[in-house]
Amino acid sequence: MKKLVILGGGISGIGAALLAKKNGYDVFVSDKSIISEKEVLTNNDIKWEEGTHSIEEIMTASEVVKSPGIPDSVDVIKRIKEKGISVISEVEFAYRFTNAKIVAITGSNGKTTTTLLVGHILEKAGYDVLVAGNIGTGFSKSISERDYDYIVLELSSFQLDGIKDFKADIAILLNITPDHLDRYENRFENYIKSKLRITNNQNENDVFIYNYDDKNIREKSNTKTKMIPFSLNKEFENEGAFYKNNKININLNNNEMTIQDLALQGKHNVYNSMAAAVASRVLEVKDFIIRQSLQDFKNIDHRLEHVINVHGIEFINDSKATNINSVWFALESMHKDTIWIVGGIDKGNDYSELLELVDEKVKAIVCIGQNTDNIHKYFKSHVDNIVNANSMNEAVGFSYQLAEKGDVVLLSPACASFDMFSNFEHRGTEFKKSVRSL
Ligand code: ADP
Repeated sequence: MKKLVILGGGISGIGAALLAKKNGYDVFVSDKSIISEKEVLTNNDIKWEEGTHSIEEIMTASEVVKSPGIPDSVDVIKRIKEKGISVISEVEFAYRFTNAKIVAITGSNGKTTTTLLVGHILEKAGYDVLVAGNIGTGFSKSISERDYDYIVLELSSFQLDGIKDFKADIAILLNITPDHLDRYENRFENYIKSKLRITNNQNENDVFIYNYDDKNIREKSNTKTKMIPFSLNKEFENEGAFYKNNKININLNNNEMTIQDLALQGKHNVYNSMAAAVASRVLEVKDFIIRQSLQDFKNIDHRLEHVINVHGIEFINDSKATNINSVWFALESMHKDTIWIVGGIDKGNDYSELLELVDEKVKAIVCIGQNTDNIHKYFKSHVDNIVNANSMNEAVGFSYQLAEKGDVVLLSPACASFDMFSNFEHRGTEFKKSVRSL
């Protein structure tokens, strides 16, 4: 019997365990910290351990599925690799058990939004579709219950690092901007390579939909597939999607269509909408369904989410903005004077990229979290009012005092949240609570 060891007992690890068990593997789940759903494992007669990695047992694996959260540099992974045991990601494992047509989506920002957009369009078109990856119940768990005709997958660079035979029928690459560099020896080049793995194993029957405006993607993608670009700046005479006069134009298979009045605001969402529309078009969804879906889509919370207006001041929760690039697009889409709430755990932010937009739109800054020095340093000669808050409640209170009727208060932190909150959802929820109690 093949022995599968799963390192990490989170959603993807538990799912992989269930799928493996169902397919006759001898399965062992090992997690250095606590496994929250251990009953599921016990109930399914799956061996597990928590708080430790039993090296001897792990070394008996024929293959190892590693959680994306575990870096290659940890001792247990080094030893597994030294022994020549294959280490794969959960996505690679689940891929073996599906015959679905796969749409895989990656990028530094916009993955979740675009994955949900594609899922929404395909569902509206009546396709039998699973939306998975970092979202929902997980790829493996869903596949362990039944197969689907179409699977839309959100893939992080860590998941892409662990693929071998995985092949997307349609791959989407949204953008590549510096993020998670600590896991890539601080070399942007390595992170770019990891993202480009989305086209691995693709052949001439597959499709690669890519952001033409991103120089790294344009110049470094090297693939045998049919490549379809999308752009905000360049019009394509042949195949591709572009934005002109507030309309998306899509040209594919000698067929043209336009879309306007998108539900999602901001230039970044024009990119996401173009990518999703092209993928759906490749899958032969009817024009009117694509158009309608992009017009009635409701994004999940914490992504430029309108909260409420209080005395003419609008509050927007963009807690998911954990890097500079996503904040850039958030500020870019503000049409009112902005009070900006920013800060948290800074992953080495270069705020200078935001200076122009801050000059144009930001009238006050409210800092939260650990790294307020960096924020003061970059912006002190650009913004008159920069204050520090000790809690989200205080940050919302200060913002409210600094704002006037017609202004907007934007939480778009550019940082991770773990110094003050359990995750970005918690941060956004606290923001909304404080706003609602003003
Ligand atoms: P991801 O899953 O890649 O983290 P999300 O869709 O959850 O992406 O969005 C994360 C943050 O990035 C949000 O603040 C959102 O407003 C912003 N964002 C969404 N799409 C893009 C894009 N194409 N380019 C830059 N920023 C984006």
